[in-house]
Amino acid sequence: MAAPGPDSETDVLCPRCMSIFRGRQILLSKGEPISSWPPPTHHPSVGSFEGAVRSGCVICHRILLGLREAGYGDLRVFDDEPVFSHWTLLRDRDDDFNLDIFVFYPKSDSTDRRWFTLYQSVISSERYDGPTKRILADYGTSTSSKAAWDRAATWYHQCRNQHRPCNANKGRSSFLPTRLLDVSSNEKQIRLVAGGKRVCRDYATLSHRWGGSDIICLRTDNMAKLQVGIDIDELPQTFKDAVEVARKLGVFYLWIDSLCIVQDDLTDWHTESALMGEVYSNGVLNIMATACKDSHQGLYRDRDPRELHHCSFKSSWTGIEEKRLTVLSNNVWKNLIKQAPLNERGWVLQERILAPRTLHFAENQLAWECHTMDACEMYPDRLPRALENLLSRVKLIDADAYRQWLTTWRKYDPANHVGYDVWGRIIRLYGGTQLTKEADRLVAISGLAKRMRSILDDEYLAGLWARHLPYQLVWHTASPGRDGGKGRRVETYRAPSWSWASIEGEVGMPMVERAANPGILIEIEEAKVTPLSSIDDTAEVIDGYIRLKGHLFKAEILGRDADLQRFSLRFLVDGMVVGGVIHSDEPVTAKHTSVVYLPVYKTGKHFLYSLILRPVEGRPQGWYSRIGVMSAWPDATDDEAWTYISKQLEDPTLRDKSLGLEGCIGTIILV
Ligand SMILES: [Zn+2]
Ligand SMILES: [Zn+2]
Repeated sequence: MAAPGPDSETDVLCPRCMSIFRGRQILLSKGEPISSWPPPTHHPSVGSFEGAVRSGCVICHRILLGLREAGYGDLRVFDDEPVFSHWTLLRDRDDDFNLDIFVFYPKSDSTDRRWFTLYQSVISSERYDGPTKRILADYGTSTSSKAAWDRAATWYHQCRNQHRPCNANKGRSSFLPTRLLDVSSNEKQIRLVAGGKRVCRDYATLSHRWGGSDIICLRTDNMAKLQVGIDIDELPQTFKDAVEVARKLGVFYLWIDSLCIVQDDLTDWHTESALMGEVYSNGVLNIMATACKDSHQGLYRDRDPRELHHCSFKSSWTGIEEKRLTVLSNNVWKNLIKQAPLNERGWVLQERILAPRTLHFAENQLAWECHTMDACEMYPDRLPRALENLLSRVKLIDADAYRQWLTTWRKYDPANHVGYDVWGRIIRLYGGTQLTKEADRLVAISGLAKRMRSILDDEYLAGLWARHLPYQLVWHTASPGRDGGKGRRVETYRAPSWSWASIEGEVGMPMVERAANPGILIEIEEAKVTPLSSIDDTAEVIDGYIRLKGHLFKAEILGRDADLQRFSLRFLVDGMVVGGVIHSDEPVTAKHTSVVYLPVYKTGKHFLYSLILRPVEGRPQGWYSRIGVMSAWPDATDDEAWTYISKQLEDPTLRDKSLGLEGCIGTIILV
């Protein structure tokens, strides 16, 4: 490893960036109004910015990287701008800050302009648990550099030899993949072998995007030939690189879907795809071609090592005690992993989560995920806590690692509620992915569902869990503008309307209420789904229903604001109007004017969550399908409509009525 580089205060940041942390500044807290707009100038011109990048300023480098990701690598477009960039620094909790840098950039294809914002967290040394030296290693100018390799090998061997949770399942399963590629025999060749006939149990898997049909595949007519040998040069670059990675780490077998599943034999495909979860779970390493759009791009990328530098220095604000501060990019994991080309694919999520350890070949650095830690070359020992979020620590689903993690929660969580939260997190990540065949929405996560079923010991209902069904039922489409768009119900049936699998797009799932006495307002009498295949009962469904009893209010949807998805409901019987936030599963049209409002649960904080339903055409009265959810804060207002609903919900004199729906309690079928 090369000697550590300089850690001098002055060359971490350019004078323009450093001036933010020096002298007389009015440090505003979050929420306080910024006195003027635009905010203070950061770089007056593109020339000043370019000079700062050349001088090695870490923050300016991050701006350049962000602009490049946004498609603005060519800085000449900024030539005529009066000011290149602006900044704001707002105090967050605990004296940490949010530093936002704004670049007002012209769109290349029109006269419109847009703000690009670089979001950074400024953390004081008391709360920062990552490396601070500007240069930790000579990272090298490619992700195939010696430093990158050494790092990957260290992660791998440490995990296999020292991480207890990561090895908890070792040797426990007798699973053997049907076929594997033997990469040990000959430098220039690999060959297809029967999975059971190997001397060593260890094998690695590859997660990749095919991106076209022109890659070598296993077919019935070339199986015998591939068993004799496959010339390395016949493989697409990503496969070649994966063979090299396996060999270097001392793993002699590799599993690649296109070469280990017979591609022109439907029976083989069905048998093998049902085993996919097991294949990834039982390998020793999943090699992920994270930055690749197809199999020809290869695992490695050139990089500017300065993008991996740290940014730590002392502040010297007038009248404020000097502090050591570290500036972190909030979205490291999001940019590196979540938004990477490979992770856009639906099938990949379970490959990534089920494998005991994952080595990501990402855009400008390698990254690591195992049950013990997430890490990347920039943060080789682990991701700093300040950067851990809902997108990281995805491997906590593994039964043993999960149970160990759970012990830290157990006293707050005697009923294992956190397991349902983990599922909610998975569904959120999964909803944002794409599938070549949309019919696979439940199939591509079936292996994960089985693993989760063994952890939760619960019944799986087309993507939801039976034990806490009332909470699971009020999943919602992601807010527009935040991580994905609105949902859209698919036209071809793939799940009941109460399942998130019936829509496309990102969904959020509420947490299970921890309160001892949760305010559940419905009674589930029966919930059933019919799987298409009796072998894979967590995959495709052909039918499903829930019979439940609840308070029903007949209503109509009033006006809409398509962007905000804010609607109001007017109760038809009493004519009162209630407002709240509706997340609709589908665009609201004239056919939705006559709806049914069904309160589902109320939390300790008096939030009321409800389903919005509509009658199913051609079915008897009492059959409904879901069109969205509504959340509201009835106790926060003295609105007469909410008073009316609250009274109705608490009225013990209400008895079952037919579905006249005049604020009655009724039994309905939800499909
Ligand atoms: Zn700078
Ligand atoms: Zn590990």
